[in-house]
Amino acid sequence: MASGWRPCIESALCLDLLRLLRTRCIVPGCTSSGTLTWTRDGREHVASVGYRADLGEASGTLTLAYRADGQDAQDVIPLSTVANNYGGRNWFMHCPATGKRARKLYKWNGLAHFRHRDTVRPRPTYASQRDSGTERVNRQRWALRRKMGDDRSDLFSEPWKPKGMHWRTYERHAARDAELGAEDAHLLAGLLARMGCPLEGFSGDLAVNLGSPARARMTTGDKPRKQANPRLRVQCGATRHRDGQPCQAKSEPGKRRCRFHGGRSTGPKTEAGKARALANLRQYREPPMIVGN
Ligand SMILES: [Zn+2]
Repeated sequence: MASGWRPCIESALCLDLLRLLRTRCIVPGCTSSGTLTWTRDGREHVASVGYRADLGEASGTLTLAYRADGQDAQDVIPLSTVANNYGGRNWFMHCPATGKRARKLYKWNGLAHFRHRDTVRPRPTYASQRDSGTERVNRQRWALRRKMGDDRSDLFSEPWKPKGMHWRTYERHAARDAELGAEDAHLLAGLLARMGCPLEGFSGDLAVNLGSPARARMTTGDKPRKQANPRLRVQCGATRHRDGQPCQAKSEPGKRRCRFHGGRSTGPKTEAGKARALANLRQYREPPMIVGN
């Protein structure tokens, strides 16, 4: 800690080539362009970068255009591939400064360009390489809450159970959180003891709220591929109750599970929707009449 400022890898914008390929923002043999957006916790906007990709079958260029520190900046990133032994090619970026091969390039605030992280001095490190004891435990607890989709609770209370999560899953996460909370209390008690003011009869359940150090994530602006084809039917794969084997049936169109395993609509949710469904029943649709009058 005494060595002064050091960039933290989590605080940089990370340009992730595999993610670009996986989301088909860039496609081998194609030219494409768009905008990359970084957000924190899925909400807070951090940065946007325009991109243009010209890819051949085995090499290409990725050009980024953005504003950094009030100036227009451009990065031209060469891309190359290495052939796999059993077919296909692995794509790599090359650092515009050093040519070093990388899957991820980083840009820090105050530095003008996306670069290989080895080009930055002092050398960047991961946040987890620095914090210790109670900080580390708190980071794990925040990470657990983010994973659960819990954006309500703090470290002083139990995690909040998101709608739709199984109780079994929730209880597993809550138990892990309690474990970490106890560890945190233990560490804090140790720290206070070393500082010469031990807590009398300390029983745990005390947390230091250091805030959530969430990392900015790159998104591509495209919808997830699940929504790409609303008619697509895939194999259901749910565990069959009959024999415990994966279900072989086709899913409902655009869904991931079959009609037996939750793929179908589970009916109206709102009061207005329920009333509409009820009004559609035949007994309410046709007025009663006497047959053969
Ligand atoms: Zn099924």
